[in-house]
Amino acid sequence: MRNCEVIVVGGGPAGASAARRLQQGGAQVLVLDKEVFPRPKLCAGWITPEVVRDVDLDPATYPHRFLSFRRLHWHLKGLHLPIPCVQHSIRRLEFDAWLLEQSGAQVAAHTVRQIERDRGDYLIDGQYRCKYLIGAAGTACPVHRNLFRQALPRVRALQTVTLELEFAHEWRDPDCHLWFFEDGLPGYSWYVPKARGWLNVGIGGMAQRLKQRGEDIWLHWQRFSQRLEQRFGIRIALEPSGYSYYVRGPIDVVRLDNAFLTGDAAGLATRDLCEGIGPAVRSGLRAADSVLHGADYDLANVTGASMGGGWISRMVDWGFTRGVGRPAVGAAAPI
Ligand SMILES: Cc1cc2nc3c(=O)[nH]c(=O)nc-3n(C[C@H](O)[C@H](O)[C@H](O)COP(=O)(O)OP(=O)(O)OC[C@H]3O[C@@H](n4cnc5c(N)ncnc54)[C@H](O)[C@@H]3O)c2cc1C
Repeated sequence: MRNCEVIVVGGGPAGASAARRLQQGGAQVLVLDKEVFPRPKLCAGWITPEVVRDVDLDPATYPHRFLSFRRLHWHLKGLHLPIPCVQHSIRRLEFDAWLLEQSGAQVAAHTVRQIERDRGDYLIDGQYRCKYLIGAAGTACPVHRNLFRQALPRVRALQTVTLELEFAHEWRDPDCHLWFFEDGLPGYSWYVPKARGWLNVGIGGMAQRLKQRGEDIWLHWQRFSQRLEQRFGIRIALEPSGYSYYVRGPIDVVRLDNAFLTGDAAGLATRDLCEGIGPAVRSGLRAADSVLHGADYDLANVTGASMGGGWISRMVDWGFTRGVGRPAVGAAAPI
């Protein structure tokens, strides 16, 4: 039996950020992840300046691919809006491994299945024991499954379904493009270039609304890949991969005793752009502060909106979710 003060289940952005803050605060922390890093993670890899700041990433010394966009191209019903911005892209394969290594925490490869309470501690698969437990294992997080399923049920109307491909490609257009609501998709598709000749393209939408329309995401993928060829001359020869996660709902319970939920495990992605890395990092840091200093595990500063929470955010949110399960006003406040 391995004893630890804090165990973090999942070493993605939420888990690695929690682990880093805990290490800095002098806690004894162990990260359990089912994969050995570097591991692939389906994600467009767009990150905001807030994420760069929150994870202390210095672009000058970051050892992997890092690209800054100067324009974000919005495409909506035939309208094209090139918006000046400073946003960035990374490759998750590289970024997540870097983040976890930066944490300085001990990491063990283990797929967590069973979690029980035992004399006030948490007992994991009969092999690990801890006083504090942080659930950071994404949509199918075993901490959610074992401890929070009843208290924080998943809201089907807030579930996204996605398909994407990341591949080596000598792109010519260095900006990020987003196409909203094409062919009635309750979501958007994207073109996100990465430094040194990589590209991520993908599509995501709300699963339940697609089902209600009698459509699936593959139909939209086929149309999207045809358009990519017309627009950029990119011929998609590979099959995309899929993943599903939840955007932010009316979250009530993300802490039970000494167990915490963070990132996708808590369903924290923003409702207007389905951005999950920033909320994962933020929630991981806040859970760690709660363990270290007894602070409330309060998600008020973990934004539910990527575009500030104003009328544009609300319109896009409405286009995706029809306003189902909107969180309290405070939860949608900008960072
Ligand atoms: C196609 C797609 C595109 C996206 N694009 C963007 C984007 O451009 N920008 C953005 O901000 N967000 C994006 N997101 C959302 C973003 O990827 C997630 O919100 C983010 O990764 C959440 O981080 P996390 O740390 O909570 O979980 P994850 O990154 O999913 O990490 C969870 C970790 O837990 C581990 N794990 C899982 N189960 C177990 C288990 N049983 N035992 C032990 N370990 C386990 C996994 O191996 C993984 O390492 C995208 C998502 C998808 C699917």
